[in-house]
Amino acid sequence: MTQQRTLVGGSGQPPAGPATSAGHVLQLLRSSTAGYSRADLLDITGMARSTLYERLDALFAAGLVYESTPLRSQRGRPPRALRFDDRNKLVLAIEIGHTHASIHLLSLGRDIVASARLPIEISQPQEGVAGAVIEESLRLLDGRQPVGAGVGLPAPVDPLHRLGLERTVLAHWDLQRLQDVMEARLDCPVLLENDARSMAVGEVREPLESLVAVKVSTGVGSGIIVRGALVRGAHGAAGDIGHVRIPEAAGRLCRCGRDGCLAAAASGRALLAEPELAGYGSLRRLVDACGSDPAVRSAVTEAGRVLGRALAATVGTLNPGRIAVGGLVGVLPDFLAACRQQILDDAFEPSLVDLEVVSADSRTATAVGLCKLVEESLYAPERVEQLLAQRGG
Ligand SMILES: [Zn+2]
Repeated sequence: MTQQRTLVGGSGQPPAGPATSAGHVLQLLRSSTAGYSRADLLDITGMARSTLYERLDALFAAGLVYESTPLRSQRGRPPRALRFDDRNKLVLAIEIGHTHASIHLLSLGRDIVASARLPIEISQPQEGVAGAVIEESLRLLDGRQPVGAGVGLPAPVDPLHRLGLERTVLAHWDLQRLQDVMEARLDCPVLLENDARSMAVGEVREPLESLVAVKVSTGVGSGIIVRGALVRGAHGAAGDIGHVRIPEAAGRLCRCGRDGCLAAAASGRALLAEPELAGYGSLRRLVDACGSDPAVRSAVTEAGRVLGRALAATVGTLNPGRIAVGGLVGVLPDFLAACRQQILDDAFEPSLVDLEVVSADSRTATAVGLCKLVEESLYAPERVEQLLAQRGG
């Protein structure tokens, strides 16, 4: 048996049973890092030889499959492995935050090829912000053509754009228009996703893992993976924990206009709103002072404790094996330690067995997650079928 590559968003398993379209053959090849020989594929799929070879011919012609080195050395003609052709295919991953955008160009092997960072102000009109991000992306691409782009946004994202963005930080944005403009300018399919959810996908290490990724920067959000599958919820708002009301935030006004939200007590915005910390002016300057200013350290510790209180409910609900905390505030050791301790104090013991509360690989997790999501979407069996039909037509 060869190693399985994680299929986030699906069942975490390669297709079973008689699914024998070219798209399904490609999905099977994508699930294996070592690839399969033609004989393996005949065995696994139970397809007739002529049908399999017809499917493979179409996949070869579309540049989706290649023949790699022999599977094993033996006398006679050794079988050659067929593999998903992920060579020379690049994905653009764009993370749009409240005050900056991070842009990465990645290979499908998740290697980061180039990166850029751009200051933005999310409250400005969409056209200007998106235009600046697109210009910087084109500069980074430098003539290279990505197969797709993923955009991580700090708000609930409904894949079908039915969810209203009222009262979110993107209240003045139109996500369908954003997608249309980006697809036209970047000349490739564009996928929009919530940023914390993208981070959760990037944090997955095992195919059937259950984990929660929490991003604490200017705002607070989380992404949920249950047994390898990304949880979006009924309308794309799963994991949007920032606006759950908690007693610790009573009397504090949230940017959503309500009173007492988690984000009003445990977020970068909340820290900057504390009277004795307001002088820092920017979240970056505030977190940099955590080691030297006791007032910052104390406020950061309290924010971590409050987040831990809210996450104890998440732990009881989902029983994750790991909570990965990232973002500018989330990775601070004082914040993480207080958060972890509060979860241990508040959650019920059966849900705490083997639970890890750790720092996220926040430098690249979101970009890697966006890259995985774009790949899953681009090479889903039904999309591959469409592509082949267009080529054939
Ligand atoms: Zn709120």
